[in-house]
Amino acid sequence: MIPVFAFEGRAVAVFGLGGSGFVTAQALVAGGAEVYVWDDNANAREKARAAGLRIENLAAADFSGFRALILSPGVPLTHPAPHWSVVKAREAGIEVIGDVELFCRERRRVAPDAPFVAITGTNGKSTTTALAAHLFRALGFDVQVGGNIGTPILALEPPRHDRVFVIECSSYQIDLAPTLAPSVGVLLNVTPDHLDRHGTMENYAAIKERLVAKAEHAVVGVDDAWCVAIADRLKAAGRDVVEISAAGGLRGEGVLYDGGALYWRGPQGRSLIADLVGIGSLRGAHNGQNAAAAVGALHAIGLDGAGLAKALGSFAGLPHRMEEVGKYGKALLVNDSKATNADAAEKALLSFNNVYWILGGRPKQGGLASLRPLFSRVVKGYLIGEAAKAFAREIGDAFPVAFCDTLEKALPIAALEAQQSPAAEPVVLLSPACASFDQFPDFEKRGDRFREIALSLIASTKH
Ligand code: ADP
Repeated sequence: MIPVFAFEGRAVAVFGLGGSGFVTAQALVAGGAEVYVWDDNANAREKARAAGLRIENLAAADFSGFRALILSPGVPLTHPAPHWSVVKAREAGIEVIGDVELFCRERRRVAPDAPFVAITGTNGKSTTTALAAHLFRALGFDVQVGGNIGTPILALEPPRHDRVFVIECSSYQIDLAPTLAPSVGVLLNVTPDHLDRHGTMENYAAIKERLVAKAEHAVVGVDDAWCVAIADRLKAAGRDVVEISAAGGLRGEGVLYDGGALYWRGPQGRSLIADLVGIGSLRGAHNGQNAAAAVGALHAIGLDGAGLAKALGSFAGLPHRMEEVGKYGKALLVNDSKATNADAAEKALLSFNNVYWILGGRPKQGGLASLRPLFSRVVKGYLIGEAAKAFAREIGDAFPVAFCDTLEKALPIAALEAQQSPAAEPVVLLSPACASFDQFPDFEKRGDRFREIALSLIASTKH
């Protein structure tokens, strides 16, 4: 845990006692603050009470006694409307901040030179964060990784000048971190998402921009118009910008993904950094963008060289994101359960041919319409969950489908048919383009079940 001394001897309110809120309260207590916590959920309050935290009904509290309101990122700050605790804090004239801000203050206090890589973007944050952390580790650094991915930021080890922090930041966390000024800020891409919580695209992009605006070095993807405008503004302000592109968009110096390989493009032309072909965890142009961003982050602080290519090759990837579980005969079994919408499934379909596609679940708006151009990559569809009938209608006669209802039925049939097919490298792909909630608590459980069945199928071929 990172004790936070920013409010030593002062009273602060903490609203929201989920994973990160709970740790935040403890970190503030450890740093000598007088901490008053609240959550609307009685179970969360009970857990906090059992851990010795001071419960205070903040709805009835006088906020003028507090120095700050520390808010969980899940609680609305602005849209659709500010939470009542935010309204009370504003009326009392106290600041409203989150755990990333507390980390920034503590880092400035004890180790302002501790390398701090903050990563955001609409898509690819977790992959890029995990990959950048992996690269630093492979090069021998002491690395702490967390934030929006896995471990809450204040549950990490305390800052030290020789310790690298690789932190995934959601827009909500950035919105609550007014003094965020990382050594390297990485902005991957900006496309419409979470507008319910951010109002307009302009507001959403402006929040993302704040992560790179005060960074010592900015790494910015230039494959969408929002990010291009942000990169231009940074350059106009004289900031150090490393551009990254996986779609031929590079204008200045930076890292380019082209034809399956990463290149550095400088004033002298381009030079090969690493060939990504054959690295299963980094398949597809979207992962090209993620790899370019991770490499760009290391480059920004002077880490290049041969070690990088080798380190990229040993990246295991994240579970549920085009995760290669193994081979059933010649059929590759791939768990892409994280693909809960058509956009994400598109990335997987673009990455494979001869696909035996398991799809369905609880459908989302828009259905499969955007995937139609990729239907030629699919040999057969195996429909599961609530979306089955609607998907079958949408697919029409583009490829044959089987109604399987569950993963338990779909996967063995798909694996067998793929294995018996004439294709040299058939792929059984769970990329559902749907939420999981009709049959599973979350996409992780759906992916875990896929992996379990896949591994037992693979094991059955070894006897
Ligand atoms: P995030 O943490 O931003 O949600 P992840 O790294 O967990 O992103 O990837 C989630 C899904 O988003 C992947 O399964 C893939 O479908 C898609 N994706 C990953 N990287 C990118 C990218 N750079 N651009 C567009 N889509 C991406």
